[in-house]
Amino acid sequence: MIGFEPTEEEAALAALAHEFAAREIRPVSAHHDQTGEFPEAVLRKAHSLGLMNLHVPQRWGGPGLGVLDGCLVSEEIAWGCAGIGTILEACGLALEPVLQGASDALVERYVAPMVERFSLASYCVTEPGAGSDVQAMRTHAERRGDRWVINGQKMWITNAGQADWFFVLAVTDPALKARGGMTAFLVERGWKGVSVGRKEWNMGVRASDTRGVTFEDVEVPEENVVGQVGQGWMLAMKAFDHTRPPVAAGAVGLARAAMEHAAKYAEERVAFGVPIARHQAVAFLLADMAKDIDAARLLVWRAAWLKDQGRRNTREASIAKVFAADVAMRVATDAVQVFGGYGYNAEYPVEKLMRDAKIFSIYEGTSQIQRVIVARELSERNR
Ligand SMILES: Cc1cc2nc3c(=O)[nH]c(=O)nc-3n(C[C@H](O)[C@H](O)[C@H](O)COP(=O)(O)OP(=O)(O)OC[C@H]3O[C@@H](n4cnc5c(N)ncnc54)[C@H](O)[C@@H]3O)c2cc1C
Repeated sequence: MIGFEPTEEEAALAALAHEFAAREIRPVSAHHDQTGEFPEAVLRKAHSLGLMNLHVPQRWGGPGLGVLDGCLVSEEIAWGCAGIGTILEACGLALEPVLQGASDALVERYVAPMVERFSLASYCVTEPGAGSDVQAMRTHAERRGDRWVINGQKMWITNAGQADWFFVLAVTDPALKARGGMTAFLVERGWKGVSVGRKEWNMGVRASDTRGVTFEDVEVPEENVVGQVGQGWMLAMKAFDHTRPPVAAGAVGLARAAMEHAAKYAEERVAFGVPIARHQAVAFLLADMAKDIDAARLLVWRAAWLKDQGRRNTREASIAKVFAADVAMRVATDAVQVFGGYGYNAEYPVEKLMRDAKIFSIYEGTSQIQRVIVARELSERNR
């Protein structure tokens, strides 16, 4: 049976997130975009309202909500500001492989306290010379007695300047790489040998904090290995099945914001004696926005629903991510078009949305990589 009606709980959660985004995020989103100042006050409020760490299971004190719940919240937060949404999503991405693979002791020590007390984590996988091609990474860890020693450099790490700890992927057997030669570690930001670079000044999502991280002879105790030695690649990649739907939901939220701004402006702006919404060329831009956003949201919900049913969703998560990313970019660009010259100006909201939208086709796997995944799954099915 196919149903599109959210349950009472889902509707209440989405309403809570929407109200929070309208009241607390929208009024400050331009400020954080223009200054790059980290929105800690907003995040602390989100935490106190229970809008963070949604997927932490009840046994660790969390609400234990599903991927679909996460998508409902993510759409609303990104409707408020995709930069702030990025902070929350990146933290969720760091937690996911730890929840999936780490020992109870590690989860209890590092994840459970985050439910009680506001703090952030980072997912440290990308490197200056290895993004899409994760296996090209050079960060390595070697065992010395009862410790591991990590050396290497990570790049584009969201929340790096704020996080208490990092989920770090490193090579432990260069001959095996993804086939058992990569291991994940949980590394505290304050440990000796960990240094964090300057905040990058990116095109968009400027409320978020992206930095390089260097590991120089960082000693990690054996108990901070996440899962088993050699399991790191699998843990790091499987996390995306959970996190790509909420990231795609963020793209839907941004697109929805752009459409709403454009639709309102099109009723107010008069050209040739009528509101521009009466010109069919503009009306069709708006209609296409609505059509594409609806389609993207349905793909997101399907990918999330599959995961919540305990079913494999790798293909559907990639389809949702690539489609929603393209929709966000197209809708934001068309919203700038509807605003005309004003759309190109930072005094109006759609310029930021267009800059922010681009990130959805880059992080958590580029749009090309999502297509590679979908194509691979297709050919596997046909083999
Ligand atoms: C704001 C921001 C936040 C980020 N946050 C994090 C984070 O928290 N943690 C983290 O680990 N990483 C993070 N990243 C990194 C992000 O995931 C990578 O930038 C992304 O995976 C792409 O890697 P790359 O930049 O090295 O590009 P490359 O992999 O060098 O790709 C360059 C181009 O080549 C294309 N390409 C590469 N390989 C293929 C292929 N096989 N087929 C077709 N096309 C291909 C890509 O799609 C892209 O268009 C972040 C990046 C940004 C910009």
